[in-house]
Amino acid sequence: VSPSEFMDLTRGLERIHADLLDDRRGAVADYIPTLRDADPEKFGIAICTADGQTFSIGDADLEFSVQSTSKPFSYAMALEELGPQEVHEWVGQEQSGGSFNDRTLSLNAAGKPQNPMINAGAIGTLALVDAGSEVSDRFATVQQTWTMMMGQRPGYDNATFLAERDTGHGNRGLASQMANAGKLKGGLDGRDAPADTAEFYFMVCSLGVDAQRLAAAGATLANGGVAPYSGERVFSQETAGRVLSVMGHSGMYDGSGRFADDVGLPAKSGVSGNVLMVVPEKRLAVVTFSPRLDEAGNSVRGVEVCRRLVNEFGLHPYKGL
Ligand code: GLN
Repeated sequence: VSPSEFMDLTRGLERIHADLLDDRRGAVADYIPTLRDADPEKFGIAICTADGQTFSIGDADLEFSVQSTSKPFSYAMALEELGPQEVHEWVGQEQSGGSFNDRTLSLNAAGKPQNPMINAGAIGTLALVDAGSEVSDRFATVQQTWTMMMGQRPGYDNATFLAERDTGHGNRGLASQMANAGKLKGGLDGRDAPADTAEFYFMVCSLGVDAQRLAAAGATLANGGVAPYSGERVFSQETAGRVLSVMGHSGMYDGSGRFADDVGLPAKSGVSGNVLMVVPEKRLAVVTFSPRLDEAGNSVRGVEVCRRLVNEFGLHPYKGL
């Protein structure tokens, strides 16, 4: 984007941020203490372009657990390591029609997770990442990838990890169901793959980012896999494109279809209240943080920012043709 276009976008975001400060609809996630105790008033927006121009407003440097917004990047890592053919033997490419943790709709008739954006699919995806190594090494690989994308190390919220693990029966159950169907790749010999992989998933959900840093990760996708600050290639162009495609149809939980209608752009949300959206035409990523969620688990203000930005700047790919 040209400097003047960038300036227009930032002015638009300032207006949108000010307008939405009074929007107090929704409720914070309450299944674990760290999310339940989040300050619901916090509201930040950040953007990062493919060439590393940045802008932020409000609480854009407040750290939160990345949660489900880790999923597209875990999928990218698996695609890089194994290629799409092998990855899609373990994880599907279809909408699930259910919530992110649904026990029956998450898996297809063969026991394979419907897509990598729901919990089952993210667990199945992480089972593929560096599968022959110890979980500690595999987690280090994930951290390194995030560091490359953001030009800065992610944080780690151990209280969130411990609570995810304590309450994670549903996720462990999904991992076990997949293993039972032969659809969870095994790890090291003698290890309990469902238990290990669920734990790995909880760790990755607990990575700490803020809107600014997460926007740089999003800009890596908007930039065809090249990190915006360093110019380092993290993922292939094909991988970045595939990740954006699945975000386009399944990134917003069971609000994905409506989001596609209203906004039409690839996005991913996490229950901590973050939303990451990529604007392919402008080669940039927008990240919002605001903890109050709608019924589907998407940040109310976050979805509203995406909707308004797209309407104000004519960014919906199919509207106004
Ligand atoms: N870590 C949580 C879970 O697995 C939530 C992930 C998310 O952001 N939906 O249930």
